[in-house]
Amino acid sequence: MTRFRCMPMDRASASRFRATRIDDRGGAVHVRPVDGPGFPCRACLRLGEPGETMLLASWNLPAPMGPYWTPSPVFLHAHDCAARVEEDRLPQTVTENSIISLRHYDKDGMCIYDLGVVLQGDAAEGPLRERLADPRVAFVNIHTARPGCWLTRVERA
Ligand SMILES: [Zn+2]
Repeated sequence: MTRFRCMPMDRASASRFRATRIDDRGGAVHVRPVDGPGFPCRACLRLGEPGETMLLASWNLPAPMGPYWTPSPVFLHAHDCAARVEEDRLPQTVTENSIISLRHYDKDGMCIYDLGVVLQGDAAEGPLRERLADPRVAFVNIHTARPGCWLTRVERA
C-alpha cells in the first residue's frame, strides 16, 4: 500500500491572512464564528468547533501551476492553531465531508483526467492509495465536490 501525507496550507499564507485580514484577491478576509458543521481549517486540518472563530479567504494555491492553477476559498482558524501534517491517514476535514473530489496531477502540474473521482470523504482512503501507486501521479489535491474548495494536498510519504 502506498503511504502518503496530507499537507496544510503554507504557514506564510496563514500568518498573512491572520495579520493583514486581506486575502489573495485583495479582498477583506471574512470573520465567521463556528455555528455548526462545515468549517474545515486548512492549517491544522481539523474542523472548527463551536466557540472558535474562523477566517474565510481566497487563497492562491501553490500547486498546480500552469493551466490547471486555481485559487480556492479556504477557512482557517483565526488564532494560530499550529499547522499540521497528517501522516498516512486522511484528516477530519476530508473524512467528515460527505462528498469530495480527488484531483490528480503529474510532475508538470497537468491534470490526469482518467484518475479523477468524486466520493464520500470517509470512503476516499482506499481509492486514494490505489491512485497514488500510479507512477504518473506527482500529487493529489482534495477538494470539496460541491463548492470545489481545496481541503489538502496529498503527497507520497
Ligand atoms: Zn486550525
